[in-house]
Amino acid sequence: MFLHAEEGLSRDEIRSLQTQRLRETVARAARSPFYGKVLDEAGISADDISSPNDIARLPLTTKQDLRECYPYGMLTVEVDELVRLHASSGTTGSPTAVLYTHKDLDTWASLMARCLHMAGVRPSDIFQNMSGYGLFTGGLGIHYGAEKLGCLTIPAGAGNSRRQVKLLRDFNVTCAHIIPSYALYFAEFLQAEGIDPASLPLRIALIGAEPHTEEIRRRIEDLFACKAYNSYGLSEMNGPGVAFECEEQCGMHLWEDAYIAEILNPETLEPVSEGEIGELVMTTLSRDGMPLIRYRTRDLTRFLPGECACGRVHRRLDRIAGRSDDMLIIKGVNIYPMQVEQVLMGMSEVGGNYLIELTRQGTREDFTVKVEITDDYFVEDMRALTGLQKRIASRLRDEILITPRVELVQRGHLPAGEGKAQRVRDLR
Ligand code: AMP
Ligand code: ZN
Repeated sequence: MFLHAEEGLSRDEIRSLQTQRLRETVARAARSPFYGKVLDEAGISADDISSPNDIARLPLTTKQDLRECYPYGMLTVEVDELVRLHASSGTTGSPTAVLYTHKDLDTWASLMARCLHMAGVRPSDIFQNMSGYGLFTGGLGIHYGAEKLGCLTIPAGAGNSRRQVKLLRDFNVTCAHIIPSYALYFAEFLQAEGIDPASLPLRIALIGAEPHTEEIRRRIEDLFACKAYNSYGLSEMNGPGVAFECEEQCGMHLWEDAYIAEILNPETLEPVSEGEIGELVMTTLSRDGMPLIRYRTRDLTRFLPGECACGRVHRRLDRIAGRSDDMLIIKGVNIYPMQVEQVLMGMSEVGGNYLIELTRQGTREDFTVKVEITDDYFVEDMRALTGLQKRIASRLRDEILITPRVELVQRGHLPAGEGKAQRVRDLR
């Protein structure tokens, strides 16, 4: 039933494995110039770790630390032992790099294969990876996992929808990895070409790499007549393969034999109470080249209570609610883009793309939500469109407490990239 024995560990077994691996990780990390210094300053060493709870005594690591250590400041091995580099997709600030040894790549591919298997992918599946390759981990990361599982794996890469559909059809592709915003764009592309997305042989779509709501998942499942599973990861923790949904689709199991996750209040940096939302902070337990201790991901989520029907006790993370740094303050009100998305994607007249635009004129802030409307709806009369505009504005006001200006646009009229979607344009 499970691909790896680690999936079936009990809570006690997970705890003792975590204790042992956390000790090894701290000992190893101390060899790097960065952790050597910070652990020394904190006056803590591997000998002080006697349970996973002792993690709270270790210092936190931030994105800024990674930037300052760029390129080689966090290594615990010689550069000759490294075989791969990836980078985070952030568009601002100076770069950060993640470096892997052979063993690290092997561990990562195994974790990834385990995730795919948990979502129901089998060696007999034909797998198309429709995300960008290159420095982004969603390319090679997912690729080697699917190969390791034994799937015929097609490195289609991002974009070029015409070629994607040809490959999907010619090779009878049954599973695909696709970024959710691109999945919706791709479905519209197919429909415009007269192809029903549901007619493709896909049975499983793995969607992730960017925040998305349950409403988007349902849309993708309905459009392609497939199951869609949420895939979470970040380059700092290898890339994809950190937490993934099982076939129950009720939260993402986080592999606790490979990571320790904490959820902290981003202001006080203390653990939140059970089940509360906070910032996910993660520690690698099985990485040699560049272990990270208590890395602040900025991603906001919570642990889901209770047991999963699949039998795995690895704790489940709720869908990522957003990032602590993507909260918008509009007219003094705190708003997360996901709140807007949830309202929009719950309305059948709304198409797959939207954009939040913030502008300022003197002291006045303008908050506009641009929404693509489905083709069926767009041809209707002006009165209906004005009515829809008002309905969207009022539903948004109910959710976020302020009323945006709603602009309806035709399908395909908002910018759509091949990679992670840009949902907010802040021009203030
Ligand atoms: P990168 O390291 O550039 O691939 O970016 C990783 C970031 O992408 C994470 O920290 C999250 O903010 C976001 N991300 C990845 N997977 C998901 C997901 N399934 N749901 C929401 N956000 C995600
Ligand atoms: Zn499960």
